[in-house]
Amino acid sequence: MAAVPVTPHIPDDATVLITGGAGFIGSTYALLAARTHPAWTIRVLDALTYCGFKAHLKPLANRIEFIHGDIACPDTAATATANCHAVINFAAESHVDRSIIDSKPFTHTNVQGVSTLLDACRHNTVNRFLHVSTDEVYGDVSHTAELSNEDDPLNPVSPYATSKSQGDTLTLQADDLDTVVTRGANTWGPRQYPEKVIPLFITNTIDEQPMPIYGNGTALRDYLHVDDHARGIDHILHHGTRGEAYNLGARAAVDTNTIAAMIQQAMDAGTPAFVADRPDHDMRYAVNPAKAEALGWRPTITLAQGLADTISWYRDNHAWWRAIKDGPDFRHFKWD
Ligand code: NAD
Repeated sequence: MAAVPVTPHIPDDATVLITGGAGFIGSTYALLAARTHPAWTIRVLDALTYCGFKAHLKPLANRIEFIHGDIACPDTAATATANCHAVINFAAESHVDRSIIDSKPFTHTNVQGVSTLLDACRHNTVNRFLHVSTDEVYGDVSHTAELSNEDDPLNPVSPYATSKSQGDTLTLQADDLDTVVTRGANTWGPRQYPEKVIPLFITNTIDEQPMPIYGNGTALRDYLHVDDHARGIDHILHHGTRGEAYNLGARAAVDTNTIAAMIQQAMDAGTPAFVADRPDHDMRYAVNPAKAEALGWRPTITLAQGLADTISWYRDNHAWWRAIKDGPDFRHFKWD
């Protein structure tokens, strides 16, 4: 029998678990949640992988309970979800290039981890589970000018997108639980790990290094500011219908050449350099966010408006990204 759609009531004094809360979007969400839901008890579960930083949560040091652990560990997941009204799952391996080199951590966290969290939510009777998915689950939509809708088939290409689509599907199939899924567009803003395109281009330009552009730079992505993405997730958590997926996009698809040109203009510096394309590179992602918009959410920060603040953040937090880029784990592109 089909599940009956209900809109949940998350009490003002709810206990809420944020997994992956030491990452880029998860920490932005934790900061937003602490501001907008002052009576929430906020718990963060994070494995502190190469892209998790407790420092992102420093302003909340006395406000949150932090659990260092793996969402794919059943005991950890059971402890972390105990007495929770809601769980928001940001925890993931999130970089496409890394998934092409080694997909195992992606299967572990993005598939096994989601399955383990769902079981823990069942065990602890958690009211609402929101899984943070991605527009990449729809696959390459360069064959059409249409936007991807939530009921389009999932057609992932990279191991990252494949693992995310499996976590997304597992969540929507769990119709004994109150689940919702968000499928967010390419997200950018402060605190993003500098292997991702916008912080990579900004930090390389600060370092007077070229901006490495895959192929001919025409791959299109819809760029959603991290504050808008975090607000969208909170909106769907409260207003999304049980068992449904919601696209979160900015209707702002631009190609990599345009991103490089905007950064060049904003920083009055920077040199684009074309490098060998990513294998099986998806050339267009573009979601239709009308369903989330109909619930009252709207993105508010365009690239043109938000880029200067993001550049300032990377200038002001030089020591953070310098340590990462000087570390053994960071992939540097080679120029001819
Ligand atoms: P991120 O890589 O910055 O952060 C991921 C966080 O998850 C890190 O803090 C990491 O330590 C933690 N983590 C990884 N494996 C874990 C595990 N097994 N157990 C517990 N914690 C673990 O990622 P992000 O960019 O903030 O993305 C957050 C979520 O949003 C992901 O699910 C991602 O797929 C999704 N998403 C990202 C984008 C984007 O453009 N960045 C767009 C749409 C959706």
